[in-house]
Amino acid sequence: MKLSDPLKTHFRIDVAHEKALKRLGIETVSDLLYHLPARYEDITDVQSVGGLVKGQDAIVYGQLSGLKTRKAWKSKMPIAEGYVEDGSAKIQVMWFNQPYLAKMYSNGMYVKLAGKVAGTDAKLYLSNPEVEPLDSLPIDRHDSIFKDTEGYDDTLYPVYRETKGVTSKWFYHTVLKCFEKGILENIYDPIPADIIKKYNLPELKTAFIWIHSPKKAEHAASSRKRFAFEEVFYIQIKKAQERAAVSAASTYTFNTSPDHAKKFIERFPFPLTKAQDDAIKTILGDFAGNHAMSRLLEGDVGSGKTAVAATTAYAVATSRPPEGLGKKLEFGNLQVAYMAPTEILAKQHFESFIEYFRHLPIQIGLITGSGCQKFPSKTNPDKPTNISKAQLLKWVANGEVPILIGTHALIYKSVEFKHLAYVIIDEQHRFGTNQRKKLAKKDARMPHLLSMTATPIPRTLALTIYGDLDISLLDEMPKGRKPVITKIVLPAQVDDMYEHVRSELKSGRQAYVICPRIDEPDPDKQMAVNSKSVLAEAARLKKDIFKGARIEPLHGKMTPKEKDDVMLRFNNHEIDVLVATSVVEVGVNVPNATNIIIEGAERFGLAQLHQLRGRVLRGTHQPYCFAVTESKSEKTRDRLKALSTAKNGFELAEHDLTFRGSGELYGAKQSGLSDLGMEAIKNLKLVEAARNEARHLVEQHPDLSKNFPLIHERVEKIGEALHME
Ligand code: ADP
Ligand code: MG
Repeated sequence: MKLSDPLKTHFRIDVAHEKALKRLGIETVSDLLYHLPARYEDITDVQSVGGLVKGQDAIVYGQLSGLKTRKAWKSKMPIAEGYVEDGSAKIQVMWFNQPYLAKMYSNGMYVKLAGKVAGTDAKLYLSNPEVEPLDSLPIDRHDSIFKDTEGYDDTLYPVYRETKGVTSKWFYHTVLKCFEKGILENIYDPIPADIIKKYNLPELKTAFIWIHSPKKAEHAASSRKRFAFEEVFYIQIKKAQERAAVSAASTYTFNTSPDHAKKFIERFPFPLTKAQDDAIKTILGDFAGNHAMSRLLEGDVGSGKTAVAATTAYAVATSRPPEGLGKKLEFGNLQVAYMAPTEILAKQHFESFIEYFRHLPIQIGLITGSGCQKFPSKTNPDKPTNISKAQLLKWVANGEVPILIGTHALIYKSVEFKHLAYVIIDEQHRFGTNQRKKLAKKDARMPHLLSMTATPIPRTLALTIYGDLDISLLDEMPKGRKPVITKIVLPAQVDDMYEHVRSELKSGRQAYVICPRIDEPDPDKQMAVNSKSVLAEAARLKKDIFKGARIEPLHGKMTPKEKDDVMLRFNNHEIDVLVATSVVEVGVNVPNATNIIIEGAERFGLAQLHQLRGRVLRGTHQPYCFAVTESKSEKTRDRLKALSTAKNGFELAEHDLTFRGSGELYGAKQSGLSDLGMEAIKNLKLVEAARNEARHLVEQHPDLSKNFPLIHERVEKIGEALHME
């Protein structure tokens, strides 16, 4: 048996089964072995129903039956009840005051229940247990999980991510069969032995045994660490290679004196923050270096990223290309492309630039799907003018327009620059080396890249998914901002909140209402029950709460054009209240919208709440954020309180990492990291070690395919899977 063998050659797998495995990306023996357990059940903690005694905190596994709701005899309190049965006995289960639970779960469902045993000795019941639905009872290493476990030291059972048609049990047994068939003899550790040793990681063979069939919790933990390291290591190699490719390409190298930039900075009606100043200096330094810059500018909404973009764009647009390249041209300065994810944002940047560049002899173009503009207009130096796309593209191609702002339209084939030296990307997190090359097709020089984001993610995650970029932080807000007044709103307080928002609407302000989304299949059914849908909420608000206000929904099922249209009308104050899913995150700027209500706030991470709250930060009026939660959990409320105390989004992102775990981290799902990779993100030392080793390896062996074919293969597989959206 070899790792590359299709599973089919060794196991009987029918078509349905094969399809199911494919859904999990499993075809070969290697895929199977790398399908690592999601977690372990330790059955020493599990009780059999037959042995439960009053007052005990119990964990039981079993099947639900007899679910129904009723009202308590005297108090009329609604009760959901049913039974759980595990083969040893059956016990009643009761949930008080949560009648909807009976509807969420179904008879016959396999569950893990954790709750207190109450009642009388004659009639025991489980009181308010937490329910974890299971696809199957996870364990059958012994005849029954309920068998006495004394005498066994292997009480840890792997639980795998399943899909319809393949159970955890199947994974476990098939892996063991692979071990029996001698797969371990054909396994070679791709990671160099000195690295394995240095970080005290188990080598691959051992790690496979330990992770699939641990005798001790420490063994499982230690091999998880190994696989986590491995994943981050491969990613870091990929990033190091991308970095090396950029470094190898020739670029525009030019010096601009700080005094030169200063003249531009003095035009702003405000002093720069120190963070802005530092970022600008660093970027100008990068321009003067020999390699193309690859830099990420991270800063909260409102931290002033545009001013950094404008100042550095000015430095570029007033610089000449190196001798020999543009000598005889009338318009031969270096050029800047500034890309935004939406048309509205592109227009907003264009307007900001018009203000910042007023009365300078620098032309600025705007190109979007719906038309082109140029500033200044020939007839009015204070205003932009509409021009044809053909005309604009001509001026960009001959260098007359040094700054071009736009949407994705910018990377279309028809756009050619004379000397594109600098690409700025706003709120769009993935922009590969290839796209950059595409933009630079005119000559072979690689433009400098500045990627800007307001997505607060923890440092370890940034180091991993942005491993190819240098990072500058704007961790300081401009002075004199009115901080958003943030309130945690419990059900009893919603009336006051609505009263406040009504009065705000009356005085001409606008509001966002954010609902958790339910249009997507939600693995956590309990959440879905509590979520308010955008459409239903919009209708309810219109009918009962904000009568007479112009209310419109905005959600993920609308086309980009429909979304843009609604945003535009909100921007023009043709809409008073926008009821949306979290799509409004993308940096729209509507200064008159000063209120945001976030329903089901407990469902969001703090970083995402912060991001949403950033929507109302722009105006001159006092902004308000209402985080509405029905959660009764003290812990949840405490967590939400951090929204008022944290200094910036990054602090909140770290908070999320610590308190919610990496799996629920904002941006984590989109990052392409596996669950295990996300676990690695919790460990700064591990991430840094993987990063250092990877960079070192790539430096020593620019072509891995020769000396490290196994690593090479794995790294190639990562491909474009890894990104932020
Ligand atoms: P973001 O980082 O979210 O892109 P912007 O660049 O749009 O933020 O800036 C938000 C607002 O703050 C703009 O109106 C801008 O003019 C203003 N601004 C930027 N820098 C400063 C500063 N140093 N002091 C005061 N206001 C500033
Ligand atoms: Mg911005």
